[in-house]
Amino acid sequence: MSKQTTVLKSPPVEAPKSLEQLSESEIERKAVIGRVTTHTLKYLTSKFVDRGFQWLLPVALSQCTDPLWPDPGASIEKRIEVDIYGKTVRTTASMIIHKLIASSTAYPKLFILSPNIRIEKAERAHTGKHVYEFTQLDFEAREATSKDIMNLVEDLLCGLVASVKRDLKDELIHLSRYDTLKVPKAPFKTYDKQELEAEYGADWETSVVMENGAPVWVTNIPREFYDFEDFKTGKWDNYDLFLPQYGEVMSGAKREWEYEKILAKIERDKINKDNYSLVLKLAEQGKLKPCAGAGIGMERIVGWLTGVKHIAETQPFPRIPGIVHEL
Ligand code: AMP
Ligand code: MG
Repeated sequence: MSKQTTVLKSPPVEAPKSLEQLSESEIERKAVIGRVTTHTLKYLTSKFVDRGFQWLLPVALSQCTDPLWPDPGASIEKRIEVDIYGKTVRTTASMIIHKLIASSTAYPKLFILSPNIRIEKAERAHTGKHVYEFTQLDFEAREATSKDIMNLVEDLLCGLVASVKRDLKDELIHLSRYDTLKVPKAPFKTYDKQELEAEYGADWETSVVMENGAPVWVTNIPREFYDFEDFKTGKWDNYDLFLPQYGEVMSGAKREWEYEKILAKIERDKINKDNYSLVLKLAEQGKLKPCAGAGIGMERIVGWLTGVKHIAETQPFPRIPGIVHEL
C-alpha cells in the first residue's frame, strides 16, 4: 500500500425495495440471493456443529446487552428499553455478555444465530452496509486464543466460498458474481489498526479495503470493555475481518475475565455498572473463564458472496435505517 493512493469515497447506494414492490425479474433475483443465504446458513452451522460447538437459541429482551460503547464504528440513534414485570429490559444489541457467561458455564463452545437490533442513524440508509436489524452468527470458545479463532474463520470462509462456487454456480452466474468471487487464500494479511491510523489517518479503512482484493485482518482495536487489553503494552488482543468493498464483516476478540480489569474498564468507559452486575459478580467469584470468539454479520457475508449493492437486498424484509416498511 502506498500513501499516494486516491481514497475512494463510496457513492450513496439506492435503498432496496420491499418484497411486495418487486418486479418479476427482481423477485427471481431475490429468490436466487435467498438460495445463497440458505446455503451459507447450512454450511456455517454444520461446520460449527461438526467442530463440537453447541447451537443455542437467541434471546430478544434482557436487562443486560452490549453497550456498543466505546466502538469507533457504532452510530446508534436510539436504544430500546421497555419495562416488563417491574424490570427494565433492552432489545438485544448483541449477545456478547450472554456468550461470556454461557461459555464459562454449561456451553464451553457455542454459537447462536442472534437477531441484533441497532437503530442506526437514518443517514446510514445509503451506505449499503447498515441495516437496523440484522443477524449475527455469534460464537465463543472457552480457553481459545485469537489465533485459534482466526484460523477457524479462515477455514470457514475459504470452504464457504469454494462450496458456493461448486454448488451454486448457476445462482452466481445469474448474479454476475461467478467470475469475480474468488476463493480466498489463507492465511489472510494482518494489519495493526494503530499502525494503519498512523500511516493513513482516519481513512485507513477505505485504503485497506479498497487496495486489497482479498479478505484482511485488522487487529489491536480499542473498543468495548470485554475485549482483552494488555494494560502493560496498551495493545488490544482483538481482530476484525474486512472483505473487499464490503468492509468489516466480523468482529472478535480474546475476552477479559478478571474482575479488577473489567471493573476498571467499565468505569473508564463511564458505563452504568448496574447493567453489568452479573458479569462483574461472576468475575469477582472467579467463575468467568478466559475465552475467545467473534460475531459474523450474516447480511454482510451473504452480501459479499452475492455481490449486492446494499446488504438489505439479502433480507427478505429489508431493515434500512430511516425506512420502516409495513413488513
Ligand atoms: P459488532 O459487534 O458491532 O462488531 O458487530 C458484529 C458484526 O455484525 C459486524 O462485524 C458486522 O458484520 C455486523 N453488523 C454490525 N452492525 C451492523 C449493521 N448496522 N448492519 C448490518 N450488519 C452489522
Ligand atoms: Mg465491529
